[in-house]
Amino acid sequence: AAKAAGRGTVRVFRPEMQHRMLRRLQASSDLARAVADGEFRLAFQPVVDLATHRVVGAEALVRWQHPERGLLQPEEFIGLAEECGRIGEVGEWVLRESLTQLARWPDLLAALPHFRLHVNVSAVEVGRVRFDERVLEELAAAGVEPSRVVLEVAETALLHDDGQATRALARLRGSGVGVGIDDFGTGFSSLSYLRRLPIDTVKLDRSLTAGLDSDPDQRPFLAAVLQVIKAAQLGVIAEGIETRRHWQVLRDLGCDRGQGYWLGRPVDAERFRATVGVTRSVPPAVDGASAPSL
Ligand code: C2E
Ligand code: MG
Ligand code: MG
Ligand code: MG
Repeated sequence: AAKAAGRGTVRVFRPEMQHRMLRRLQASSDLARAVADGEFRLAFQPVVDLATHRVVGAEALVRWQHPERGLLQPEEFIGLAEECGRIGEVGEWVLRESLTQLARWPDLLAALPHFRLHVNVSAVEVGRVRFDERVLEELAAAGVEPSRVVLEVAETALLHDDGQATRALARLRGSGVGVGIDDFGTGFSSLSYLRRLPIDTVKLDRSLTAGLDSDPDQRPFLAAVLQVIKAAQLGVIAEGIETRRHWQVLRDLGCDRGQGYWLGRPVDAERFRATVGVTRSVPPAVDGASAPSL
């Protein structure tokens, strides 16, 4: 058929396309096996109150313990899962496992009434029909209060939304589920989004924190960004706090909460549980020396 189309037209099967299709097919069956065989793991990174150093939450981060390729980071497979249509299965596993884990920490939840678990959801998932209903069903099945969970959606995810995703998130907000915009500051999104979207939290992308090291104007810039977020009456979490200085500057600028290697690396559930409740007036100078990160 491609040949019959004649000169000047694009042939349907170029070798590199065939290669890409094969790669996608392989990835798809690899991911299906991973779901069936339980090869995914969750790592938990603490979310810390910058003023008090208390742990006020955690972010669940998925990893893939691949039988041949070892421990894979999300960058190596989330995009692929989205492309080959398996992100729904991965996302379902992540949400269910996150809620199961929360239900295993009744003492932690009792001790920290405001503790919330942040779960990343892909744009592809949020836009699907019945997304909100399925999240509420999972919450009910696990016996977890909606207010204990924050769904993190990348700001780019909502740029091309036809309304479906925004409506689902609004209904979830109405049921008490937290909604956060992830990687804020990377997606050219308009500031009016902060007031229009059904969100309660903004996660500053770690490039904004990293800018403090290289650019003397970054501090006043961050101060202004934080002021805008506060004016929109949203909570804010800074990502990528890697040094004492990052922590100090962000705390002084009034940023509520933070996450980063200096405050705590992503670790497995058991290690995470062991670190909560350990309140320090000053965090350790060298972090993660004892706990291998996941
Ligand atoms: P994210 O949601 O922005 O998560 C934060 C990422 O920054 C995590 O990488 C975390 O390990 C890393 N990080 C934390 N503190 C620091 C720091 O101080 N310095 C530096 N350089 N990095 C830090 P990770 O775990 O590799 O995840 C990468 C991305 O993959 C996440 O970015 C998120 O967008 C996505 N992801 C992770 N888990 C899931 C999931 O369950 N579902 C979906 N759809 N996406 C996920
Ligand atoms: Mg990583
Ligand atoms: Mg996130
Ligand atoms: Mg982020």
